[in-house]
Amino acid sequence: GATIGILGGGQLGRMLSVAAARLGFRTHIFEPGANPPAGHVADAVTTAPYEDEAALLAFAASVDVITYEFENIPTQALDTLEAHRPIRPNRQALAVSQDRLVEKAFLSDLGLLTAPFAAVDDEVDLAEAIEEIGTPAILKTRRFGYDGKGQSRLRAPEDAAAALADMAGAPAILEGFVEFSHEVSVIAARGIDGEVACFDPGENVHKDGILATTTVPAPLSAAQRTDAVLLAAKILNALKYVGVMGVELFVTPKGLIVNEIAPRVHNSGHWTQNGCAVDQFEQHIRAVAGWPLGDGKRHSDVVMENLIGDDVLRVPGIARESGAAIHLYGKAEAKPGRKMGHVNRVKG
Ligand code: ATP
Ligand code: MG
Ligand code: MG
Repeated sequence: GATIGILGGGQLGRMLSVAAARLGFRTHIFEPGANPPAGHVADAVTTAPYEDEAALLAFAASVDVITYEFENIPTQALDTLEAHRPIRPNRQALAVSQDRLVEKAFLSDLGLLTAPFAAVDDEVDLAEAIEEIGTPAILKTRRFGYDGKGQSRLRAPEDAAAALADMAGAPAILEGFVEFSHEVSVIAARGIDGEVACFDPGENVHKDGILATTTVPAPLSAAQRTDAVLLAAKILNALKYVGVMGVELFVTPKGLIVNEIAPRVHNSGHWTQNGCAVDQFEQHIRAVAGWPLGDGKRHSDVVMENLIGDDVLRVPGIARESGAAIHLYGKAEAKPGRKMGHVNRVKG
């Protein structure tokens, strides 16, 4: 059987490994950190930094195709790997999603709506950006932000200096604050032959910048549902994408505004594990392995709840609930803000 190489050994890598194993593949995880959650379920693990050329070459030689569970992989490592094995999704998808400024420009060039944005490298840029965009606004680092980290809100122009200090010198982007009624995401997949399939959009609720729950079906009109799926397909086609992508959207009276894209399986797609015959993890493995996409039609309503930090202490009670499917990541220490697992509550 073929071996799938996965860059990153977190919970997404773990669930990708399980899905790959179910389809008869072997998996090999590359992860700099010790004792990764995916390490317990993968067939092989390489623990090495992304600067270790010899480890990267040995990893590439041991796999047939390379995919990833996070987007911040150093360019040099990707160059080394790509000389030997295909990387799916491709490099353009990574380049676009690694940098919020490049991402916003790409999306608006496609004719999609985004928050108004401007590049901010210093206080002069920020003053001009506030002049142009106004407040409230959010200053975000262009790279490496996740779970709301690397962001600072400006209620008024007076917050500029404090917000810029929060960026600690990193290149940033100012985004106008979008007055949305709610947030949804589309988990979309594109196969090697260009076939596109989208899971039903879910409604996402965040707490302290971290995803708390995803509910399907999301409250959307038929027209909004169509827009969501069409815009996701437009993004995947433009990138000649292969794999699963998470597309985060703001629902507004003016239409759907794209917040950000993630070139990988996505936390807001975890409900698919218990709401669909084929979940996002199997769909991603199918796509990168060159298989036909599977049937991702929603067969049940689901509420996915993330178990963050001490939430995991509620597991014994949740285990007594009917219709509750528990997914734990095997992490030893329940630090605040750390994603320990999730529960999918299936209705009917
Ligand atoms: P993730 O963990 O999803 O990768 P992230 O750190 O990349 O998160 P964003 O998705 O950019 O951060 O922002 C986190 C949340 O902050 C959004 O889901 C939304 O609730 C809010 N937010 C971000 N940008 C805006 C905006 N321009 N207008 C209004 N709210 C916003
Ligand atoms: Mg993000
Ligand atoms: Mg986000």
